[in-house]
Amino acid sequence: MDKLDLNTKAQELRELLGEDANSPVDIFSLANQIDGLTLVYYPLGENISGMCVRDKEVKLIAINSTMSYGRQRFSLAHEFYHLYFDDESGFNVCSKNLDPKSENEKCAGQFASYFLAPYKALRAAIKKVAGDQRLSVNHVIELEQYFGMSHLAMFWRLVSEGYLSADKLEDFSSGVISAARYLGFDDKLYKPTSVEFQKRTYGHYLKQVEELRQKDLVSSGKIDELLLDAFRDDIVFGLNEIDWEGEAID
Ligand SMILES: [Zn+2]
Repeated sequence: MDKLDLNTKAQELRELLGEDANSPVDIFSLANQIDGLTLVYYPLGENISGMCVRDKEVKLIAINSTMSYGRQRFSLAHEFYHLYFDDESGFNVCSKNLDPKSENEKCAGQFASYFLAPYKALRAAIKKVAGDQRLSVNHVIELEQYFGMSHLAMFWRLVSEGYLSADKLEDFSSGVISAARYLGFDDKLYKPTSVEFQKRTYGHYLKQVEELRQKDLVSSGKIDELLLDAFRDDIVFGLNEIDWEGEAID
């Protein structure tokens, strides 16, 4: 695995998506801007973090919505690697294991880490939160909160850069959520998507259905069916009635 090359690829993709080289990114908003990409949130079980399907016609990423928000952000960055840089196949099912055997999966994971926390930006952030001190759990929490990365993903990144040693995993894994609260952070990063939103489709597929609807190309029953296939019963049945009033709440 060529880390320098993966960090460069992460920088290239940041640039392509209109991001600067160092700031934390709103990765789900970036995904919405990718032309032709359909993003599916789905409970994919205990072992799978995400999937990517791509060919000339289809660009689809699925994210396991039962994993923590921080992990979902990491998984999405991992799937970006498959979407943009992986020539091996058009189909990946990715394990949640952060230390996978496959070289390709290792690369996708390392890419994801660099995409969310670029090499230089992480170094600067470490200096800011810890100065010259040895890193503590609280420092790791501050770093993961800043870059929006899961606790484990940040831990392993710091191990890979020589800031922490792997045998500290247990010490660094307990009491993370309450420590984050004590430090004044929202605990959103550590929580899965709430059950009612765990199955949802966004992006290109929805745009295509809307195009069919606007052009009156299929019956309204068919439109409902297409939306239900995409787990969008919220649209079909108007489950968010309050939205009907039409005014955005700012
Ligand atoms: Zn993968």
